[in-house]
Amino acid sequence: MKEENAKNNPVSVGVISLGCDKNRVDSENLLAYLANAGYRITGTAAEADVIIINTCAFTKDAKEEAVAGILEAAAEKKSRGAKVIVTGCLPERYRSEILEGFPEADAAIGINDYEGIDGIIRSCFKGERPAVFSDKAAEASGRILTTPPHYAYLKISDGCDNRCTFCAIPNIRGKYRSRSIESLAAETEGLVLEYGVKELILVAQDTTRYGSDLYGEPSLERLVERLSQTGVEWIRILYAYPEMLDDKLIEYLASNPTVVKYLDVPLQHASNGVLKRMGRRNDKQYAAALIKKLKSKGFAVRTTFITGFPGETEEDFAELLAFINESEIDYAGFFSYSKEEGTPAARLKEQVPARIKAARLKQLQAAGSAVMERRAKAYVGKTLTVIYEGVDFDRGVFYGRSRYQAPEIDSVVYFTADNETVPEVGCFYEVAITGTDGLDLTGVLRKEI
Ligand code: SF4
Repeated sequence: MKEENAKNNPVSVGVISLGCDKNRVDSENLLAYLANAGYRITGTAAEADVIIINTCAFTKDAKEEAVAGILEAAAEKKSRGAKVIVTGCLPERYRSEILEGFPEADAAIGINDYEGIDGIIRSCFKGERPAVFSDKAAEASGRILTTPPHYAYLKISDGCDNRCTFCAIPNIRGKYRSRSIESLAAETEGLVLEYGVKELILVAQDTTRYGSDLYGEPSLERLVERLSQTGVEWIRILYAYPEMLDDKLIEYLASNPTVVKYLDVPLQHASNGVLKRMGRRNDKQYAAALIKKLKSKGFAVRTTFITGFPGETEEDFAELLAFINESEIDYAGFFSYSKEEGTPAARLKEQVPARIKAARLKQLQAAGSAVMERRAKAYVGKTLTVIYEGVDFDRGVFYGRSRYQAPEIDSVVYFTADNETVPEVGCFYEVAITGTDGLDLTGVLRKEI
C-alpha cells in the first residue's frame, strides 16, 4: 500500500498545529496517518499540495489565530491551488457552520476523524467538500514527533467533565475519556525506542482525573507507575486539578524518582466568591495549603489565573493579587476572561469592561514576574541536573532545563563550560547555578551525568 502510493502519489502535505500541547499530539498522530498513507510530509506550507490547519477555539484570541491561519492557507490555495483542510477545535465547535463560514476550505474534519484522512484528501482532489465528524476516535496508530526528540507529550485522555463555568472545552472535546494504561505504555516504549525520548510530559484537560471513566477510580498513580518502567528518565505532569491532588497522590508523586518535582495546577482565581461562580471545587484556603504542601515536598509549582471573570470586584481582584504576592508559586500564566457563547458564565450579567480587564491583567503580570524572579533567585548556589537543549548563539552560551522547568512555557538555564566539553543535546549535566537573568538561571557546567 505505502510503496505503491508513495511512487504513484507524490502529494505533499503540511500540517499547521495551533493551540495547546494536546493539539500538538493530535497533529503528530495525523502526521503518522499521512505518512502511512504514503503522503510526503513537508514543513513548508508554500510547498504543500494540501495544507491542514489544526486549530484551537477555546477563547476569542485562539479563534482569531485560527481564522488567520486558515486565511494564510487560503492565500496558498489562491496562488497555487493548494487544498485547505481545517481540523481541531474550531470545526469541532462549529460543526454545522464551518464550511459555510470558510468557503476557502476544501474540507473540515473533527478531532476523532484522522484515521480517514487519506480518503478525505482524495475527495478534495475529486472536487468534493467533505465535512467529517464522528464522536468516537480510533486508537491512534503511531506519531511523528514534532518536539526535539529528547522530550514528548503524552495525551492520556481527551475531553473534560469539570464544567468550569467559563470554559468551552467540554462542549468542544466532549466527555472525559481516558486511554488505557497499556496503550499509553506501548506508545511511550515506542517513543523511547524510535526517538530516544528521555522526558515524558503527561497532558490532558485534567490529568488527575485519569482513569476515573475507564477503571472506576482516579488512576494516575497506576499509570505513572507503569510509565516509570518504559525507559523514560523524567515524567512531568501538567494540568492537575487542585481538588484531585490528595495527600496519597502527592506522597506517591514525591516518592517516585522518575517523576520530576514539578506540577502544573491551574488555580484560576483566589477569591472564594469568584471560584464559586467559576464552578471550581476548591477555595482559597485549600489552594494556599496545597501550594504549601507541594513546596514542602520540593515541588516547583506552575499555575494559571484568570482575571475579569463576570462580577469580579476590586476586592476580589485585590485578593487575587495578594494571593500571588504571598504565595510561593514558581511560574504562572495570566489570562483575561473570554466570554464564550454556550458557557454558563457568558450568561452572567456583570461582565467586566474590557479596559478594566486589560488593566488588571497588566497588574497581575507585573506582580507575577516579581514573584517568579524572586523564586528564580532561590536556585543561586545550588547545583541542578539539566537536560541540554542547544546553543543560544546571541548569548554565546549553552542552554537547557532543570527538573523544575517545563519546555516552551517556563524559563531555561543558560550555562558555560570549559573549552573541552561539548555537551550533547538530550543528555543530562550537572550545572552550578551562579546567577539569574530575569526568570532564567545562569550557571557553569560541572560534569556530565
Ligand atoms: S478543568 Fe480545564 S478544561 Fe476542564 S472545564 Fe475546567 S478549565 Fe475547562
